[in-house]
Amino acid sequence: MTIRTRCAPSPTGYLHVGGARTALFSWLFARKHGGKFILRIEDTDLERSTRESVNAILEGMTWLGLEYDEGPFYQTHRFDRYNEVIDQLLEKGLAYRCDCPKERLEKLREEQMAKKLKPRYDGHCRCREVDPEKPHVVRFRNPEEGTVVFQDLVRGTIRVSNAELDDLIIRRSDGSPTYNLTVVVDDADMGVTHVIRGDDHINNTPRQINLLQAMGLPVPQYAHLPMILGDDGTRLSKRHGAVSVMQYMHDGFLPEALLNYLVRLGWSHGDQEIFSLDEMVELFDLSEVNRSPSTFNREKLLWINQHYLIHDDPKRIARLLSPHMGDLEIDPAEGPDLVRVVEAQRERARTLVELAEISAFYYRDFEAFDEKAAKKALRPAAVELLQAVRERLAALENWEREEIRAAIEATVKALEVGFGKVGMPLRVAVTGGAPSPDLDLTLELVGREATLRRIDKAIAWIHG
Ligand code: GLU
Repeated sequence: MTIRTRCAPSPTGYLHVGGARTALFSWLFARKHGGKFILRIEDTDLERSTRESVNAILEGMTWLGLEYDEGPFYQTHRFDRYNEVIDQLLEKGLAYRCDCPKERLEKLREEQMAKKLKPRYDGHCRCREVDPEKPHVVRFRNPEEGTVVFQDLVRGTIRVSNAELDDLIIRRSDGSPTYNLTVVVDDADMGVTHVIRGDDHINNTPRQINLLQAMGLPVPQYAHLPMILGDDGTRLSKRHGAVSVMQYMHDGFLPEALLNYLVRLGWSHGDQEIFSLDEMVELFDLSEVNRSPSTFNREKLLWINQHYLIHDDPKRIARLLSPHMGDLEIDPAEGPDLVRVVEAQRERARTLVELAEISAFYYRDFEAFDEKAAKKALRPAAVELLQAVRERLAALENWEREEIRAAIEATVKALEVGFGKVGMPLRVAVTGGAPSPDLDLTLELVGREATLRRIDKAIAWIHG
């Protein structure tokens, strides 16, 4: 049997962290078993679904590299199919028309609530003949007896008595099919073998199983993923900061870091924290998914992002860094090779945004010194030292790190001072106080012209 999983977002917002985690687990499970991963856009809520949201979801999936084998399929293109199924259910007596007025349903609800009962439809129209030409909804005739039992691949055996379920509306009065009906038809038509989704859908599963069984369709396996909480223990939402996947791109995270972080939300493999994509595919298993909720921890994500910043191919990092340099109005072509800058700086940043910020000085003069650094390093006594080292640097034949280093050392020796006496003001003069690697490398990358210009500016600043 070919494993077929799906990701079925409703396009009513961006692709959020929870949706991306569900997509990742479904994708991994399909990849691990040589199966297929399907993307289905559940856009039947015409009022809340938007084209921008569809695009944002597609963009997020693409950025994360979660390639789908089939789709995107749009539910709004399949209304004829849903209606065909609903009509068949009506013909077979497995569904019925209901014209209960709103007032009746509200009264029923109030009465049930007053008796502390779970509000549910009482089956009033089950045996009535409702005129198909008059306004009505269609309800599924849920079995009245028995228990729905299924083996959730994460949660184990789940049992729900049919007495707790009521006759679900499957077609609204405006003729549109409802969520549980469309999902069931699609999962069956698309041959989905494993439904992997958030546990906020767990209450729908027994209803969906009943629908499938009534239609004589195969029931897939289910895996309900535990929810993701924010640091205050409530369900992760906008309140907790960025939850849109694309916001993470803008904030300077690498897609592989986000995937690595997401895979650990609810799944573990011993104590291992870092997983390449190939390792994830190899090691991932639904049976190792936790039942309990996991907490989203931005610090941990930053730590993983830094790991990838340090260990990924610098050429790739440079490519991903370029747009963030662009955000600072820096064209990396007008300065040192960005790959070398990445190699020099990457240990000092946790995100691409930080990496861009601390690397700006390689490409343009900074506007002001870091106050603390300048106060410490750029004192009147530094003028003479800066002038001396400037002279030697200006005279260098080749602007490369060994010669630069020799020039600084010669200055130190001639003036009979410690290395830091020259090194510290020189570093602040050239970098403004930004985090930077070895001084000789820093200067080489900044270039001779900018180095000398900035030394002059620092001296002028001291004379203030
Ligand atoms: N469209 C649903 C959602 O975005 C998911 C439905 C499902 O996975 O069955 O929550």
